[in-house]
Amino acid sequence: MSKATIEAARNWIDAAKRVVVLTGAGISTDSGIPDFRGPQGVWTRNPVAEKLSDIRYYVTDPEVRKASWQSRLAHPAWTAQPNAGHLAVAALERRGKLHALITQNIDELHQRAGISPHLVIEVHGTLHKAMCLMCGWRGPMQETLARVRAGEEDPACRDCGGLLKSDTISFGQPLVPEVIERAMTAALEADVLLAVGSTLQVYPVAGAVPIAKQAGARVVIINAQPTQFDDIADAVLQGPISVDLPLIVRGVG
Ligand SMILES: [Zn+2]
Repeated sequence: MSKATIEAARNWIDAAKRVVVLTGAGISTDSGIPDFRGPQGVWTRNPVAEKLSDIRYYVTDPEVRKASWQSRLAHPAWTAQPNAGHLAVAALERRGKLHALITQNIDELHQRAGISPHLVIEVHGTLHKAMCLMCGWRGPMQETLARVRAGEEDPACRDCGGLLKSDTISFGQPLVPEVIERAMTAALEADVLLAVGSTLQVYPVAGAVPIAKQAGARVVIINAQPTQFDDIADAVLQGPISVDLPLIVRGVG
């Protein structure tokens, strides 16, 4: 992408007081976490895998739950390290410019990169916690995974006997209205909205982009593939994210 575009985006961020960053799977692929919906995505290539993330199969089929627990045990998030893209977002906070980080990711790599938890809005939840579908209990995922490792194929809630899963939003599960409201409010307040590594196909989160634009923000999209909002963006970059993002926010250090 042209130097002029990067320079323009950099100037908008320099002038901004409130930068809101919206991230999707594309920011974590350089950390070895696969994208689920992209052209090479896990679900695109193997639709059966999508069953594991569908609450309707999950609650009715013990085999789906057993497979889900095995899949959580093997998830690349446990060993993944934040990359230059995550570090660049953290650098924005250190510059006093990060108003909020809205993320569709469940891997907590932004927090690992040093972002203050109160700035992070996880619209799809987190893999790092387990939760009970019956009583709402929540606890560290690693403690429940230890039970799976010890032989419980489909561990039940110790408080109520209910089904456990990761504290993430599966297909067929509602988003958390308060979380979405926080995200949209942040988008309204942005001077610059940076949409990074998201295909911007999933609503209502994708709506943050036109909301910010209509409220007067500069919109910068960094994504390997075109998105439906490229036309309203002030700048569109195709990455790689771990190269372009540090350039725009002035370094990772
Ligand atoms: Zn329970």
